[in-house]
Amino acid sequence: MDNHQCRWGETVAHKIIKNLEKRRMAGSYAPTAAQAKDEILSMIPKGAIIYRCGSMTATNMGLWEAIAALPGIEIIDPYRTDITPEEKLELRRKGMTADIMISSSNAITLDGKLVNLDGMGNRVAAMTFGPRKVILVVGVNKIAADLESAMARIKHYAAPVNAARFGVDTPCVETGLCVDCKSPQRICNMWSIIEGHMIKDRIHVKLVGENLGY
Ligand code: SF4
Repeated sequence: MDNHQCRWGETVAHKIIKNLEKRRMAGSYAPTAAQAKDEILSMIPKGAIIYRCGSMTATNMGLWEAIAALPGIEIIDPYRTDITPEEKLELRRKGMTADIMISSSNAITLDGKLVNLDGMGNRVAAMTFGPRKVILVVGVNKIAADLESAMARIKHYAAPVNAARFGVDTPCVETGLCVDCKSPQRICNMWSIIEGHMIKDRIHVKLVGENLGY
């Protein structure tokens, strides 16, 4: 990011944070992933049970290793490689009662709407209700002008890239664009648009002035 991109990111992030606050959600801005990681770690109280939801953003910034190093923390991690698919599913159920859920958002609009698309639905379910606190780490690359462009970004960029990452056999892996497939391996099943929350500041969006995740 050059100085002009950094300035754009910070300016737009602060506009979004104001709009999140109008929707009873909280937001904050960090110019770098490293600073965002430190600030998120400081939000985690001792003894907290943390639910890990899918996010290349959190994974690539080394957040999970840093959380695991905190004293007295339990991580509910369905991405462990040493457990069966049934055990992973059970951890996704258990995560719904965690103290804190951490993930990213597929997109965020300028007026502060969080837009997501899930295959299984556990991530959008936990964002909506369950864990007492939700922390979403969102790079400036996920900012969309409005709902329509947020959904287009997800369908024609984030989902095909994720489909390729998962190694599924869906048409978008070949074409790069969504064709609304009916494949049994389809990863796009549940839309979520969060426009606000009755529990003030339950959702905290950490906007980051870098391109992170998909
Ligand atoms: S609906 Fe199917 S084709 Fe479209 S992005 Fe999802 S997996 Fe790919």
